[in-house]
Amino acid sequence: MRPWEKNVRKVVPYVPGEQPNETDMIKLNTNENPYPPAPKVQELLKNMDADQMRLYPDPTVGKLVGALAQHYGVKKEQVFVGVGSDDVLAMVFMTFFNSEKPILFPDITYSFYDVWADMLRIPYECQPLNEAFQIVKEDYYKENGGIIFPNPNAPTGAELPLQDVEDIVRHNPDSIVVVDEAYVDFGAQSALPLIEKYDNLLVVQTFSKSRSMAGMRIGYALGNEVLIKYLNDVKYSFNSYTMNRTSIELGVAALEDQAYFEKTVRKIQETREWTAEELKKLGFSFHPSKANFIFARHARVHAKEIFAALREAHIYVRYFNKPRIDDYLRITIGTQEEMEKFVAFLREYLK
Ligand SMILES: *Cc1c(COP(=O)(O)O)cnc(C)c1O
Repeated sequence: MRPWEKNVRKVVPYVPGEQPNETDMIKLNTNENPYPPAPKVQELLKNMDADQMRLYPDPTVGKLVGALAQHYGVKKEQVFVGVGSDDVLAMVFMTFFNSEKPILFPDITYSFYDVWADMLRIPYECQPLNEAFQIVKEDYYKENGGIIFPNPNAPTGAELPLQDVEDIVRHNPDSIVVVDEAYVDFGAQSALPLIEKYDNLLVVQTFSKSRSMAGMRIGYALGNEVLIKYLNDVKYSFNSYTMNRTSIELGVAALEDQAYFEKTVRKIQETREWTAEELKKLGFSFHPSKANFIFARHARVHAKEIFAALREAHIYVRYFNKPRIDDYLRITIGTQEEMEKFVAFLREYLK
């Protein structure tokens, strides 16, 4: 070890799903949307003026903040925007999770939470999901330094009913409760209506999944004005210009195309239900998903083997070699056509 290495902030990084670049692949491994962004986004992108790039972007992200505030019927002061919800969540960890007491999150959940906690030296305690892979709300009634969970949860796709989310928020007036709603648009109930009632609730969402813009990196948080102010204070102490000009403009355009958004979300929901039926027939079991993926295991063949066989056929799904879930595959819902090919392959393979 070199002498200076003892002073390096060492972290075990988050490992994102692979991004292979093959023309004939079916990519069902990172919960991307199979449909292109809204036509308005594509049109605006074509007409963008490169000369503007000389100038720094608006540090307040005013245009997109305003559009989001209008879209959700809240004040501008209740909206925070970041470079994907990963950036928003990292700011949230830095801003609000600063206690000696452990923060709480599920044992099976988004695998970035423990990475941020480790990196920022935040103590944490994982609360096991029950046998049905559901969050047990009472586990979050103990003393804590903050709470975070996705709803629907990832990678299970399970929704925690809004009543239970509210119970968790209500039982924790002394800490911040963060609901990571990356997948909420695919059919779960959002906790957004509760932000007026509870000043300790922060709801985080993203353009990456339901709005087909993972590549643009746009995420946001909605909550009480005081929470948003604290988040902005940390952001401005870190990097004032997080959002680039193109993301800001295209984000606004995406919000304007509500009809397209609803149409593509509905298509994904329909394909999800079709895929679920087919997977059942093939001997898979899973709990209902309210997200754009299904988390399934097979009665006979181990997930690792199926994963490898699919990969060989250029069909990418996600496999997590982790306790309790190492016999599961997380299958993103692609287009109907992609899912038909996926099911056809499995039908042959599992014969
Ligand atoms: C995809 C995802 C995110 C991050 O998405 P961004 O692309 O950074 O907006 C956050 N939380 C969960 C649970 C996710 O699955």
